[in-house]
Amino acid sequence: AKQAGRNRYQFFSEQLQEDANSMMEMEQDLRVSLEQKQLEVYYQPIIDSRTLCLVGVEALLRWNHPIHGIISPDRFIPLAEDTGMIGVIGQWVLETACQQAGQWITKGYNLYLSVNLSGRQKSLGLDEAVLRRILESTAFRPENLVLEITEGMLLDNSHSTIEWLTSFSRMGVQLAIDDFGTGYSALSYLKRFPIDILKIDREFIRELGHNTQDMLVVKAIISMAKSLKLRIVAEGVETDEQLTILQSLNCEFVQGYLFSKPVTAHELEKSFDGFNQG
Ligand code: C2E
Ligand code: CA
Ligand code: CA
Ligand code: CA
Repeated sequence: AKQAGRNRYQFFSEQLQEDANSMMEMEQDLRVSLEQKQLEVYYQPIIDSRTLCLVGVEALLRWNHPIHGIISPDRFIPLAEDTGMIGVIGQWVLETACQQAGQWITKGYNLYLSVNLSGRQKSLGLDEAVLRRILESTAFRPENLVLEITEGMLLDNSHSTIEWLTSFSRMGVQLAIDDFGTGYSALSYLKRFPIDILKIDREFIRELGHNTQDMLVVKAIISMAKSLKLRIVAEGVETDEQLTILQSLNCEFVQGYLFSKPVTAHELEKSFDGFNQG
């Protein structure tokens, strides 16, 4: 038993060592990922639930690692945040996505661009002047840009966070709350921040049609959003049944695998004409 215990300890410590090594390796790899053009912005359509027209796209980052293949942002965004690399990476995403979506708009596709913002970017160089420069250099109108923030960022509730987000809003950029309903939903913050859009988290959409509780929650979120004059997007819509329910609840916009997974710019372009036209 003693032997087994020691083996187990060794196993764990080796495992921990391996994890630490692979984290350091990942950190080093991430540092060169941008210059080696391994990062790529994918796009997922956002759809008008009534007309089924394409109304927007969400930019979602992918890392094409030379050895490990495509790495999900859930695995490397936290590392990018901890190391501060999210500053440079986040600005690159904004630039790249504005450039790309700007081309689509020029071609006559009337869509908005949604980009995920990390709270860390507040102290890593992203301010009003930088955002303005990105929009000008890509000739992208602020009205067509949505920045997605999380409830956690709003809970911070500090004066500087309110100022930071308000400065973007004053430029005409819209703000969306991502993953709505999963955080500590202190609804009072909705008044203090210039929010335009709520995105209902996939968690509440998954069992829609089989779970009365979720149905009631989604219904309540939509009615609250309407009374606050916020637009609403349901995330993670995968089935016709979910879509039908969301249509019946007057949920304005929907996003999910039912319409498309996040795809490369090139792939999305090929499927543009498959969507209804607005
Ligand atoms: P998110 O912002 O909540 O993005 C939605 C996630 O749900 C995406 O995962 C998307 O691929 C996935 N998804 C969309 N529709 C469906 C569906 O119908 N079913 C299922 N099962 N999943 C669906 P993804 O692309 O892996 O991104 C994960 C998270 O990484 C994002 O969650 C976001 O928090 C973060 N992220 C991605 N790109 C960026 C970025 O450029 N900057 C920052 N700060 N975070 C990013
Ligand atoms: Ca998002
Ligand atoms: Ca989300
Ligand atoms: Ca999420």
